[in-house]
Parts: sequence; C-alpha cells; structure tokens
Amino acid sequence: MPQTDLISDPPAQNASAAAAAAPRPRKVPRIVVLGGGSVGLYSARRLRKRMGRREAAIVVVDPRPYMTYAPFLPEVAAGSIADRDVVAPHRRALKRVDTLQGKVTNINHGERKIEITPEEGDSYEITYDHLVVGLGSVARTLPIPGLAEEAIGFKNVEEAVAVRNQILNRINLASSTWDPDLRKRMLTFTFIGGGFAGIEAMAETEDMARAAVKNLTGVDQSDVRFVMIEGSDRILPELTLEMANYALDEMKKRGIEFHLSTFLSSCVDGHVVTSTGVEFDTDTIVWTAGVKANPVLGTSDLPLDRMGRLTVLATLQVVDADGNVVPDAWGAGDCAAVPDLFNPGTFCPPNAQHAIREAKMLADNLYSTLHSGEVKEYKHKNLGTVASLGLHKGVAILFGKIKLRGFPAWVMHRMYHVSAMPTASRKIRITTNWVGTWLLRREVVSLGSIHDPRAEFRAVSAPVKPKDAPAAPAAPAAKDAEEKADK
Ligand SMILES: Cc1cc2nc3c(=O)[nH]c(=O)nc-3n(C[C@H](O)[C@H](O)[C@H](O)COP(=O)(O)OP(=O)(O)OC[C@H]3O[C@@H](n4cnc5c(N)ncnc54)[C@H](O)[C@@H]3O)c2cc1C
Repeated sequence: MPQTDLISDPPAQNASAAAAAAPRPRKVPRIVVLGGGSVGLYSARRLRKRMGRREAAIVVVDPRPYMTYAPFLPEVAAGSIADRDVVAPHRRALKRVDTLQGKVTNINHGERKIEITPEEGDSYEITYDHLVVGLGSVARTLPIPGLAEEAIGFKNVEEAVAVRNQILNRINLASSTWDPDLRKRMLTFTFIGGGFAGIEAMAETEDMARAAVKNLTGVDQSDVRFVMIEGSDRILPELTLEMANYALDEMKKRGIEFHLSTFLSSCVDGHVVTSTGVEFDTDTIVWTAGVKANPVLGTSDLPLDRMGRLTVLATLQVVDADGNVVPDAWGAGDCAAVPDLFNPGTFCPPNAQHAIREAKMLADNLYSTLHSGEVKEYKHKNLGTVASLGLHKGVAILFGKIKLRGFPAWVMHRMYHVSAMPTASRKIRITTNWVGTWLLRREVVSLGSIHDPRAEFRAVSAPVKPKDAPAAPAAPAAKDAEEKADK
C-alpha cells in the first residue's frame, strides 16, 4: 500500500534553498535511486511504468546527466561509435522521473536521508521513504609509483574519448619526430589488466591504430607497439580457457605483446618497470585492472561485505550480517553482492547483463512491497559471453556451449549490445553509424586539442598592460611594514 509520510523535504528543483524551508507533508512515498547507470535507469523506468506520479515520487541522483552503456566504450575508443550515441540522457530516457545532478556524499539510512554535493554550490540533504542503491563501481587501483600521475582509467565515456585522442595524437606526432627514442615512446601503448574491459579496449584501439598508420607516411606498422600486462597466467577469465587462448593467439598474431603472470611495479614519468624486470618507456598507460564497489558506500550506515559491497538477498533487499532485511533499502549491480542462485555460494559477476536484469527485478519487488505483494528472487543463468577483438573480429560463447570465433562472434557482439542499449533512438543512431563506417571507412582523425580548447586563445590573448592591470594585493610582509611605517 502506498504510504503517506510526514517527512519534510525540498523539491527536486532548487533543493538547497528549500532545505531551509518549513516541513511539508509528503502525499506519496518518495523513492530515491542513487546512480543513474544500468541499475538506476532501468529500475527507475520500470518503477515509473508501473506506478503513476500519484502513487510515488521517483528521484534519480547522479553527477552525470546521462547513463553510459559501458560495453560500447571500447568501440567509442576505436571510433566505431560516436561518444554521444553510447549515452542515454536521463531527461529523455527517464520521463516523469525527477533527476538531481550531483554526487551522493553521505547516506544516512537510519534517518532516511542522503547528502548530495553538486558540482557547483553547497551540499544539501534530501529525505526518502525507499532507497535504491545503484552506485556502480570505480577502478580498483594499487599504490604503484607513478600510476596516479601517468595512467588513465577506462570506466566512462570521457576516458574512452581521451584514450582515442591520445593514441591518434601520439601516432601523428611520431610521424613528424626524428628522435628515435621519442618515437618509440610515443608509439608504445600499454594496457594493464587483461579482463574483458582491458582486452576489448586494447584490441579495438590497436585495430584503429593500425588503420591510422596505413594512411600515414613516416610511421611503419612495425613501429607500433601494444603491450598488455596481466597479473594472472591467462586473459579473459570470463571465457573458457580454450576460447581465451584463441583470443590470445589471435592478438599475438597481430603483434600485440603479452606479459602474463606479471605486475606493474612502477611507471614514474612513463618509465614502466614490471615485476619480471621488463622495462620500457611509454606515453600511454591505460589501467583496466578490475573494479571495486563505489567507495561512497563506506560513508553509509548500510551493511557492507569485506569487499565494500552492499549485502543483499536474492530479492535485492539489503540484509544485515544477522540475515535481517534492512527495511526500505534495495541494491543491485556492481556495488552489491547479489547471490548467484545458479552457482550457490557465489555472487553475480559485475556486468551489465546482470545489472539490467537485477534492476527490473528490484523494481518489481519494490512495487510488490508497496502493494503488499510477494517478492521474488533474482535468478539468471548467464546467456553467454561475447567480446569484440577489433573490427570484424571477436570471440563468443553462447548458452555455455555454442562457440563462435572471428566474424560471426563479432556480429553477435554487435547485435547483442545494440539490443541492450537503452532507447530506440540510440539503437538507430549506433546502427546507422556502423553502416556509415562500413560504407565510408572509419574516421581516424585525432581531436587531441579538444582536451585543452582554450590553449590557442590563451596563446594569442593580448597581455594586460601594467597600467591597466589591477593593483596586486600587497604581500603580507610588505603590508606589515607599511602599517608599521604609518604608525
Ligand atoms: C570498458 C567496459 C566494458 C564493459 N563491457 C561489458 C560487456 O561487454 N558486457 C557486460 O555485461 N558488462 C560489461 N561491462 C560492465 C558493465 O558496464 C557494468 O557491470 C554495469 O554498467 C554495472 O551497472 P551499475 O548500474 O551497477 O553501474 P553503472 O552503470 O556504472 O552506474 C553507476 C552510476 O552511478 C553514478 N555514480 C557514481 N558515483 C556516484 C555518486 N557518488 N553519487 C551518485 N551517483 C554516482 C555513475 O555516474 C553511474 O551513472 C563493461 C564495463 C566497462 C567499464
């Protein structure tokens, strides 16, 4: 049954000002969804589909105004899909749902309150009746000298675009550089972590780099060096060993260098040193060595496991260490330890396949709870795994037994992910983009300066003449001296 509550709250718009306003009774329960990614977008959409505005208010909080479909990031980095097409804008995809742009910086479930920090302006709090946590994951890093300064992650669209521009920019610069050491360094591209994201990102960008070099005089294919450093003795743990080895052999044939059972020890100033003693210089280090639950959960009073994930039942209700359901709290996706009922004793892997399905089940269960219905357990058998290894290349296992290699696997990869991409307009845009690329060949131009668009204007800006310049504030020592002199 929908409840009416008396918790005061600011409206979604102008929330910080309203925070100080007098308490107003709320007529319908408010469901606050933390994160507008796979879990947030799909659960909010499903809830809104099942409940009208008179039944519940739904608020999604995310620092970004869009959901990113991360499985397509490697193709964004390779230029096969435009960056704008892999994001679903919240305002368009979440009709009749309120959105608040800002970071959740504190969760006080005891008081049914969250703190939101916008990019500009002061933090403010909003209250809720039901909480859905879909805060996803962040890159899991290690304290390696030079890593924070030199490397880039591969978790969001901004990073994918930056990796693309960096690789193309280095290739272009190298083609006009005579210094052999500098050229070598510019043309060495290093990826750390051979899981799904790392292998797809490296394979796709290597393919793009080869296409870029084809049109260029001054750089030879043999000058381009892609290096993968992976701590375990195999790549793609999500695939069977046979299929992972197929992918490994295919990439080795393309000249990609693999260092398995190897860790990155240091990369200060781009000088890579590995645990096995390999050393080289590189301008590009992409960190794809796994993820961990969003650390903001550490600020909350919600129960977490050893790995910082929200503990939930298969019904996606948050549960404490004693097995008691935490009322009004739900969680799914990368930030939650969702029991895998097909593999008892294990948890669902952090992937979009699970996150999207969990989100829908979560919404159905939350709806049932509000209507005194039964909750169901999330149970999903992995449909398969598909990975792209560059244009027209891939590897896939479907339903645990059908193995595809090369072109058919790549087609399957594209078909599966375009069907999972939210909103019809995005599906159409991506497909037309692919047709365009197929007809006209892919675009390999680097827009490197996009990352500092004011640089040129700064350089040509007329300097302020000393007489027009505002008087510089007196240095404290000079000011003291002046004051003493006045006395
Ligand atoms: C490069 C790459 C390739 C991948 N390939 C595949 C694949 O091929 N197949 C597959 O199934 N899965 C793949 N995945 C994994 C898949 O994308 C994730 O498992 C899935 O997106 C998880 O959904 P989520 O909702 O839990 O998190 P996300 O979709 O990441 O959503 C989390 C949301 O929380 C928001 N957020 C973060 N911090 C805050 C905060 N403090 N306050 C408010 N909001 C916040 C973020 O902006 C984001 O919108 C890939 C991931 C990556 C990075």
